[in-house]
Amino acid sequence: MTPFALKNGQLCAEAVTFSDIAERFGTPCYVYSRAALEAALDEFHQELIGVDSLVCYAVKANSNLAVLNVFAQRGAGFDIVSTGELKRALAAGATPKKIVFSGVGKSKSEMEFALSVGILCFNVESAPELDRLNEVAAHLGKKAPISLRVNPNVDAKTHPYISTGLKENKFGVAYEDALKLYQHAASLPNLEIVGIDCHIGSQLLDPAPFAEALDKILLLIDQLAAKGIHLHHIDLGGGLGIQYKDEQAPTVKSYLQPLLKKLKDRSLKILLEPGRRLVGNAGVLLTQVEYLKPGEVKNFAVIDAAMNDLARPSLYDAWHNIVPVVPRSGKSINWEVVGPICESGDFLGHDRPLSIEPGDLLAIMSVGAYGMAMSSNYNTRPRAAEVMVDQSQVFLVRRRETVEDLLALECLLP
Ligand SMILES: *Cc1c(COP(=O)(O)O)cnc(C)c1O
Repeated sequence: MTPFALKNGQLCAEAVTFSDIAERFGTPCYVYSRAALEAALDEFHQELIGVDSLVCYAVKANSNLAVLNVFAQRGAGFDIVSTGELKRALAAGATPKKIVFSGVGKSKSEMEFALSVGILCFNVESAPELDRLNEVAAHLGKKAPISLRVNPNVDAKTHPYISTGLKENKFGVAYEDALKLYQHAASLPNLEIVGIDCHIGSQLLDPAPFAEALDKILLLIDQLAAKGIHLHHIDLGGGLGIQYKDEQAPTVKSYLQPLLKKLKDRSLKILLEPGRRLVGNAGVLLTQVEYLKPGEVKNFAVIDAAMNDLARPSLYDAWHNIVPVVPRSGKSINWEVVGPICESGDFLGHDRPLSIEPGDLLAIMSVGAYGMAMSSNYNTRPRAAEVMVDQSQVFLVRRRETVEDLLALECLLP
């Protein structure tokens, strides 16, 4: 599925040229392909036909309401980490009974709200969280459905900032403590144990660690059963990687088949929490070249998008392909592609061979995940617009912020 391709010398999103989008909505602008979003979710659903399962999209990867709505319409559930994300999912048409709540720091009010909505499961990450949730549920006269997020201590071999399944991470409960904590949970009257959960990291390109984690979790499930604790579901988290450059991303089939085989004879519902995989390659950041500053040591192309719009290059040293919307035939030279922000770390790409002139449009590829979602207003830069393309139509799904929007939240001293 290549929703973004050259047609008649112009880069297009489905059937619309990026030049048209820039003219109508301005730059910088996030552009999503509805077909690409749907295809990514369908790839999971295809492998899960006939399997008792639920794909819970990890909202944090891209929380735009229209994106969530596309997934909700196709039957997806949601993995949320805050009241804000829960309200987004509900506003986008999510079914509460398809929502799981992850995160190490759930506040009392977040628990109250999720309980009142009636979500599928709280993925609990510590002993004190069990006690707090039990108390909050008791106060509301409810039983909170829970899983424990267990840290299987496998090495996901990814960037240290996005590896979450090792002992030194803040996430989850230690594998060795899980049995004891489940027994504690079973003793709390306002909790109902429904499952077990793990999430070992992000942008994983090797399916092996997932299988390794599952083996450990299954061992634990057997130990729990021996103690009379029976689970209804197993949540294998997210983390499946995508292709950004020349890496080989596994197919969903090669990721899921080994896991489904291990789970075949268990009567466990399977939950998955993919984020990046569902949205990463479905989004592009459309931007314009403002100035060219060729120099003795480096050539700088200053564009109108910056690290506040797309933090991944500065934050993780992530590589995103940068391609001209209307390619020129002239000779390419290497450019440092940078934004207008007053930080040396404000770059979108290093050493990119491009043939460009001021005013040219560029597309920064594979930014559908952790792009807009991690954007900020640094340098009082209003956030970019977001649009969704559906075949030959383009819909504005978040209007560009104005400076007035930003100032409206502040006031002078009396
Ligand atoms: C971030 C996160 C996900 C999604 O991760 P991806 O790498 O985007 O698939 C899923 N589950 C939990 C608990 C997370 O924190």
